Amino acid sequence: MSIREWETLYEVKGPKGLLEMTSAGLKEAMKESDTVILSFGAIENHGVPLPLGTDYFQANTLIRCVHEALLEMGHKTIPGFAVPFGTDTNHFERQGDNLFGNVCLSERTFIDMAEDLILSLHNSGFQRFILCLNHSENQAALNVAAKDLANRFGIRSVVADWVAPHNDFWPKVLKNAEHQGHGGEDEAACTRVAVPRLVHLDGVEGYYPPEDPKPVHMGGLYYYGGSVGVFTPVKAYEDHSPGYTGDPGDATVEEGILCYEAYAKWIAQVADKYLF
Ligand SMILES: [Zn+2]
Repeated sequence: MSIREWETLYEVKGPKGLLEMTSAGLKEAMKESDTVILSFGAIENHGVPLPLGTDYFQANTLIRCVHEALLEMGHKTIPGFAVPFGTDTNHFERQGDNLFGNVCLSERTFIDMAEDLILSLHNSGFQRFILCLNHSENQAALNVAAKDLANRFGIRSVVADWVAPHNDFWPKVLKNAEHQGHGGEDEAACTRVAVPRLVHLDGVEGYYPPEDPKPVHMGGLYYYGGSVGVFTPVKAYEDHSPGYTGDPGDATVEEGILCYEAYAKWIAQVADKYLF
């Protein structure tokens, strides 16, 4: 088929990010702002409903929402870009065929990649960095990179992991009060906003894991609001999921918009508190 007849797979809407600007346009924008927003996603299996680039596509929308939220608070920033590469999925929660299609970096390579990208932007004059996550497993390595850059080069940044602060928010806006995990209702809703043609929710059934047999205070994964890093398979948590947890089939565009607005507002408040 000729390129002339290709269908549009997805579109990017919103304020321009760095990739859509010319160098002259970037220079002009940087007369008013030295702050750039990045988000780090992954190429990762999200089951039948969502594409492998789900985390990246959401990141590409989130950076623009954070820019808008900060503008509302009176802060000019530049939406940088979404990074499609992330660290490995945790094998404690997801196993077997649910890892198929994943393309990941080692922790070490991720730290180097993040530092190189941020240093390059710093060389172009950026002084403040708002570092967001669209793949929870990037949290540890991104914090290491940011701390290292601060210590060695005085680079100012915040790493804003918006997941745990929204544990109370989701039941208020989603149809399902049960916790929605990887690829669940909230994530499917956000992906519908970003790349509607790549989401397939027809006939998708909900999946919830069996109840936690050994609840421990703050005993969950550190990037979900718990306090533990789990780097071992655990028999009771064997992965029998269809590649997602929750009810992605209930996701709507309107829910996705509410989620982005809430995440962006929280990240903007964090940036306002520490960077401005
Ligand atoms: Zn995801």
